[in-house]
Amino acid sequence: MANEQTKPGPDERLTMYRQAEVALREFFSASNYCLENCITQECSKIAFFIPIPGRLGCCTENCFDRIPDDDKSDQTMQTTKRFIELQKENATCQAHREGECDYHSETGCQIKRYLTPLCLGFICSHQREYLEKNYGIQYPKHMIGVSLKKIIQGDERQVDLNVWLAKLKQATARVKKGKENQDPKQEVITIIPST
Ligand code: SF4
Ligand code: SF4
Repeated sequence: MANEQTKPGPDERLTMYRQAEVALREFFSASNYCLENCITQECSKIAFFIPIPGRLGCCTENCFDRIPDDDKSDQTMQTTKRFIELQKENATCQAHREGECDYHSETGCQIKRYLTPLCLGFICSHQREYLEKNYGIQYPKHMIGVSLKKIIQGDERQVDLNVWLAKLKQATARVKKGKENQDPKQEVITIIPST
C-alpha cells in the first residue's frame, strides 16, 4: 500500500472514480436488466420474505451517504468532502418516505454522478447469475465496491484501475452484442479488480 506522499491526490482520486462510474453505468445500461426485470415489475428482485414494490429496485433505504469513513487522513477527508458536494449537484432530494431512499424518485435515482461505492458497485444475485449464464461474465459480489472505496482512499493505482476498466469494456461489448449472438466457446470474463 502506498504511503500518504505517493498516493493520488483528491483531484486524481475523483477523476479515477468517475472513470469507474462511467464504465460501470455503461455496463449496466447495456443489458438494462434492472429496468426490464425489476423496476417495471410488480416485485423487486431484492425481496426475500417481504415483497418490495418493483419500482423501488434495491433503493429501499438511504445509501447515498454510505461513504467509507474509516480513513481520517487529510487527503481522504478532502476527497470525501468534495465527493459529497459533487454528488449533490443537480440531484433532487425527496421528502423522506419510509422504506425508500431520499434520492429515489418516480424516475429512479436522482444522483447522476458520484454514487457511493455501495450504490454503484452493487448488483443483486439474480443479475449476477443472469450475466454469467447469458454472457459468461462473472461480476464479483463485493470486489467492485471494495475497489471503489480504495479509489476514494487513494489505495487504488491508475494502472490497476485500468486493468478492470478494460475488462468492463470487454464485458460491455459482449453484452451489447445481444444474448442470441454469443459464441458458446467464448472465455468467461471475470471482472476482478486488483486487491
Ligand atoms: S440490482 Fe437487482 S434488486 Fe437492484 S434494481 Fe437491479 S434487479 Fe432490482
Ligand atoms: S442513492 Fe440512488 S442508487 Fe443509492 S439507494 Fe439512493 S436512490 Fe438508490
